[in-house]
Amino acid sequence: MSTTRCYYEVLSVERSASGDEIKRSYRRLAMKFHPDRNPGDEEAEKSFKECAEAYEVLSDPDRRGRYDQFGHEGLRSTPGHDFNRMNPDDIFSMFNDIFGGGGGGGRGRARRGPVRGYDLETQIEITLEEVLEGTTREVEFRRLDVCDTCEGNGAKPGTRPVKCPTCEGVGKVEQAGLGGMFRMVVACPNCRGRGEVVTDHCGDCRGAGRISVKRTLEVRVPAGISHGQAIRVQGEGEPPRPEDLPEGNGPRGDLHVVVGVEEHDRFQRDGNDLVTVVPVAFAQAALGATLEVPLLEGGVVELEIAAGTQHGEIHRIPGHGCPRLRGGERGELVTVLQLVVPRKLNEDQRNLLSQYAETEELEIHDAEPSLWTRIKDSFS
Ligand SMILES: [Zn+2]
Ligand SMILES: [Zn+2]
Repeated sequence: MSTTRCYYEVLSVERSASGDEIKRSYRRLAMKFHPDRNPGDEEAEKSFKECAEAYEVLSDPDRRGRYDQFGHEGLRSTPGHDFNRMNPDDIFSMFNDIFGGGGGGGRGRARRGPVRGYDLETQIEITLEEVLEGTTREVEFRRLDVCDTCEGNGAKPGTRPVKCPTCEGVGKVEQAGLGGMFRMVVACPNCRGRGEVVTDHCGDCRGAGRISVKRTLEVRVPAGISHGQAIRVQGEGEPPRPEDLPEGNGPRGDLHVVVGVEEHDRFQRDGNDLVTVVPVAFAQAALGATLEVPLLEGGVVELEIAAGTQHGEIHRIPGHGCPRLRGGERGELVTVLQLVVPRKLNEDQRNLLSQYAETEELEIHDAEPSLWTRIKDSFS
């Protein structure tokens, strides 16, 4: 590209424009001509590169000075700035510098900061009783770790990885993209972006630099946790993959321990409340009684019921539900009374009950009105 157009003209700014004005104008034009917005438009691509070239010169005070004094001639002696040969990746990285990270950039995954490794997930099961106090669990999981033998470089101890012949150590290669119209820079397939390849493989990891290891951890499960909630154990995931780490190390990912709470046969959880069904005999319900309600934590709590208590009545006992996850009071124990009719009677019982039956009177409107509501609801 033998651009002879004036750089100030290309960026639509005055010769006296400030660095900020130049940046703003470049940003606007780069957006306008960006290949992502103009797929297949060769003119736009040309303008995009032209703007990038002009910006690269005018944003650098030293080169801008030389350009002002000597024009395009003044830049000839500077090697490495022929945009015709310049790799589009560099244009995009310049573009990303302005836009900040991958936003609006052409590469989609222009990352900033250290690359984190993968997160892992494992599952544990606890009982509802354990929800009350919290518990600890040993969790065992497998993860890819840095191979100790080769310290992660994949080379047999005593040997070193060598410069990748495919990318000559750069870690990136150019590839034709968008029907050959555009050159794309991708991670080198030979060295997977590392820039180095291993000739003598480490025997332990077969050159991968990573090895699958079993790890056991003690995980604290807080009281009040719910079924399906996860505990995040920071830094117990995998180290970053070697191909994601052109330089140095990055932090490990996290381990997520998903907690399953087993169903209990007598207590059902409802948020921070526990629901339980308590049997009540006909005579207790009729006369009134003190019932003993078993608790999830063991032991019993007394529950007074009045004379004439009905089947299905609900009583709430505070302080005997589940604890709140981040400390605080326990919820309520919700008791649902079930009137149990005896299935078998001995002779004495039958006689007593028969005598009672002769005195009993039941009218149609003694039926629970709420029962009618329930029946209606079941049809609607
Ligand atoms: Zn190894
Ligand atoms: Zn390579």
